[in-house]
Amino acid sequence: MELSKPVETLTGIGPKTAEILKKYGIRTVKDFLYTLPRDYETYDTPTSIAKIRPGKVVIRGKIDALTSRRARRRNLSVTEGVVRDETGMVKVVWFNQSYRLKQFSKDKEYYFTGNYELRNGRYSLVSPSAAEVADIDLRIGLSPIYVAHGALKSHDFRRLFNNSRDKFNQIPDLLPSVKSGTRKKALFYAHFPNSLDIANKAREYLAYEELFELILAAKLNRRENDKLRAKAIPFNQEGIRNFVQKLPFKLTNAQRRAAWDIFKNMEKPVPMNRLLQGDVGSGKTMVAALAALEVILAGGQVAFLAPTAILATQHFDSLSKILEGFGVHTALLTGATKKKPELKKQILNKEINLVIGTHALLTDDTEFANLQLVIIDEQHRFGVEQRQKLLLKSPHGLAPHLLSMTATPIPRSLQLTVFGDLDVSILNEMPRGRQPIETKILAEIETTEMLYPKMDEIMKLSPDKKGTGKKMHGQQIYWICKAIDDGTVVPNQNGAASPQDITSVKKRTRRLREVFPDKCIEFLHGKMKPAEKDAIMERFSNGEIDILVSTTVVEVGVDVPNATLIVIENAESYGLAQLHQLRGRVGRGASKAYCYLLTSGDMRPSRRLLELEKSNDGFYLSEVDLKLRGPGEIYGALQHGALDLRIASLADTKLISRAQKDVTEFLQAPDDMIKYKELMSGITKYQQITTLN
Ligand code: ADP
Ligand code: MG
Repeated sequence: MELSKPVETLTGIGPKTAEILKKYGIRTVKDFLYTLPRDYETYDTPTSIAKIRPGKVVIRGKIDALTSRRARRRNLSVTEGVVRDETGMVKVVWFNQSYRLKQFSKDKEYYFTGNYELRNGRYSLVSPSAAEVADIDLRIGLSPIYVAHGALKSHDFRRLFNNSRDKFNQIPDLLPSVKSGTRKKALFYAHFPNSLDIANKAREYLAYEELFELILAAKLNRRENDKLRAKAIPFNQEGIRNFVQKLPFKLTNAQRRAAWDIFKNMEKPVPMNRLLQGDVGSGKTMVAALAALEVILAGGQVAFLAPTAILATQHFDSLSKILEGFGVHTALLTGATKKKPELKKQILNKEINLVIGTHALLTDDTEFANLQLVIIDEQHRFGVEQRQKLLLKSPHGLAPHLLSMTATPIPRSLQLTVFGDLDVSILNEMPRGRQPIETKILAEIETTEMLYPKMDEIMKLSPDKKGTGKKMHGQQIYWICKAIDDGTVVPNQNGAASPQDITSVKKRTRRLREVFPDKCIEFLHGKMKPAEKDAIMERFSNGEIDILVSTTVVEVGVDVPNATLIVIENAESYGLAQLHQLRGRVGRGASKAYCYLLTSGDMRPSRRLLELEKSNDGFYLSEVDLKLRGPGEIYGALQHGALDLRIASLADTKLISRAQKDVTEFLQAPDDMIKYKELMSGITKYQQITTLN
């Protein structure tokens, strides 16, 4: 069997199922086999119904009288039934899991496990997980729990894996110096453990493999980078001091340190490959300006790449202003730039020495005479090929220095381990005078009473001092929705299987227009044409739009200081880092800013939301995020699935150091590597993530 064959080749997976899996990035047989359980449920000692007591219980019986109804409260469906065994009967209830109606057949026996508790004056078994007895007996009392993928629930995964039991046999080994067959056994036992201990050992091995690949990729990158040559840029103390003295504000200590790291780094004839991490608003652009100035004073050219035209324009406006008069000649190059050929000529003949732009910068006919530094804002937004294209634009035989910037912090524990070979500077200090953003969790039913009046109030406030003030009448609002179209259902990130009801961008826009008929309310989403998006953003930026209803396309970098309130609907469906990024769209001006996290209100808010409510510190939140991810959560440490580790063992520093030691040993016998094709192809993926060039 080839692991790279499409999932459809597996028994029981038809086009429909494959379609769903693909939506979640599960394309190949390998992806599927690596879709590991989130947890395991033990069913070994069911209690007879006559004897159950409040608290966690396991019962075994048949279920009937299943019904589903809408609760009085909107957005909540209640599915109920009765489970019987020889000793009695008990009511079971699920919320927002109407698929349960179809899960059971009347004449089959099931295990149910959940909390037996008092609800509305009556004891019932609440939201139990359920598994067919015949299926569990096969697995010796231990049932894997899979994260629901859309319509595919945990029990569907169990069925599919049962069909594929024989596929595991064909999995080749990956790592050198492990016993043969280790990998296939580990993967098999992760899905079909005969004890919890075995399940844990299996997972640990798989985690180890992943870490090994990741660390190896990082170390290989470092080696490759260190073989390259770059122009050494001498530290220009006078030029830099002169510039800093004329700034309208004092640099933060963190900015000074980061700039110093960069200057030291660029003094060497090896290309810098540095990641600058700083929370939203920490002043990364200023550090980039210092790096650019240093290079330009030494006669080099600098390219500054931003992920969107909006951001590129923003950077151009601020950088050309502060760098003017220091020998820096700046130009903006985006898709919308007119007179491109003239501009490109100026770049080639060095009349322009700082080019700020989007992907338009990457076309083959943009040639530099002496490109020595590439700065990439929000680096995770760019593909590897795009980054590589830029690096190819430097003079023959030399690679440019590279400074990547990101507001998505890598947790410190990772920094010390997995990313140990990456040069990192951190801005862990905010410019003075920033007010924390007031964050509040709000149940959806409170919208009318609490949120609308607040929005009204915000839109009546006089515009923020930092706003450009063109057509502004009041302060502005972002409203973030999960989906573009009506009728979309997405899984929620708690790991809980219940899909949530989603209000789409379009529906929310209609509703808000009814509530605020005299306000200008527009929407924005990723499927709109670039020109349409830019036009909407431009109008929002100018203050013509009062409320911008948007998907997460506004997540990164956008800077509209006059927007002071952000509402994030279905907040439970986002990861912590992403929520923090979204919140960072406000609080960029002098006025007080607010963030409202809207939840269905059915459940207690998750720890994620509570932490966000408490803290404005992105580094702290990234640590929390790492700790909160239980085993099997598929989300990586970096957003956007960049570091898509399947087993979140990244908090496991012991395992990480073991893998590190083994990688170091492995690398001492380089010819070994040719023998491990599977390993090498696997790490290419990681190499692309951990390298910045
Ligand atoms: P980010 O790190 O999110 O990219 P920016 O570089 O956009 O942050 O900076 C946010 C704002 O803070 C900008 O308006 C910038 O001019 C301002 N700023 C940067 N450094 C300082 C400083 N040392 N003191 C005061 N304001 C600063
Ligand atoms: Mg920025």
